[in-house]
Amino acid sequence: MENNECVFCRIIRKELPARIIYQDKEITAFWDQIPATPVHILIVPNRHIQSVSDLQEKDADLVGRMALLAKRLALQENIEKSGYRLVINSGEDAGQTVHHLHMHLIGGRPMAFRKNL
Ligand code: AMP
Ligand code: ZN
Repeated sequence: MENNECVFCRIIRKELPARIIYQDKEITAFWDQIPATPVHILIVPNRHIQSVSDLQEKDADLVGRMALLAKRLALQENIEKSGYRLVINSGEDAGQTVHHLHMHLIGGRPMAFRKNL
């Protein structure tokens, strides 16, 4: 299930340093190493799933829990009122660079939406 070459699997296993802010049996959250916004946290399943395209019906709860964790972290980081965005890039056109499913929680400044699409 785990992937020895995968950067996020290695962060989850604590083989690589990262600013982990949450971890349980299923999910890990850590700060992005090159933040695009003042708050930029990655929420990842501990199991190596490549992308949204690889999700199965049985993963519905897992993805739901990732979204609920994003909400809690937004509150914790004080961007709940100002607003935030959840982004999951999947595949080449979306610019996915790490092939371990991850949800970006970004916020802390106003963000354009259509401008860069
Ligand atoms: P994506 O383009 O959606 O695949 O996003 C990958 C994200 O992972 C980028 O925002 C990177 O800055 C981030 N990233 C890559 N390697 C690490 C790492 N070792 N620690 C923390 N964030 C990372
Ligand atoms: Zn992985």
